[in-house]
Amino acid sequence: MPVDSTLPYDDQNVFARILRGEIPCNKVYEDEHALAFHDIAPLAALHVLVIPKGAYVSWDDFSAKASDAELAGFVRAVGEVARIVGADTQGYRLLANTGKRSGQEVPHLHVHIFGGQPLGPMLAK
Ligand code: AMP
Repeated sequence: MPVDSTLPYDDQNVFARILRGEIPCNKVYEDEHALAFHDIAPLAALHVLVIPKGAYVSWDDFSAKASDAELAGFVRAVGEVARIVGADTQGYRLLANTGKRSGQEVPHLHVHIFGGQPLGPMLAK
């Protein structure tokens, strides 16, 4: 069920619970600003999620309200994660679903990193 990313942050969402250590994740990377882990239902040979540690519902929320340090830290973390998993040399795709029409399901900003195989067209026609 797609979320309304204009709603206030819900601290019971699954990624908030992962950040608090209440439920496990298959961690790839963590620093001051970001946590990265394998998607529980991968859609490509490589499918990793990168989330900011701050309470942001979506890319829209994050880009409007995060500090410069959070923005820079998160963007650097996404690139670092792609290098850690070896996606940088073969190419990868970033995706951040934002709001109802995108199909966003978890109301905590997450960037998908897809790779590990040829990824085909950007969107299904
Ligand atoms: P989106 O549709 O962009 O909101 O993507 C949400 C993603 O979160 C989906 O690809 C799910 O498979 C993934 N997901 C949901 N719960 C978990 C979890 N506990 N651990 C890892 N990935 C999850």
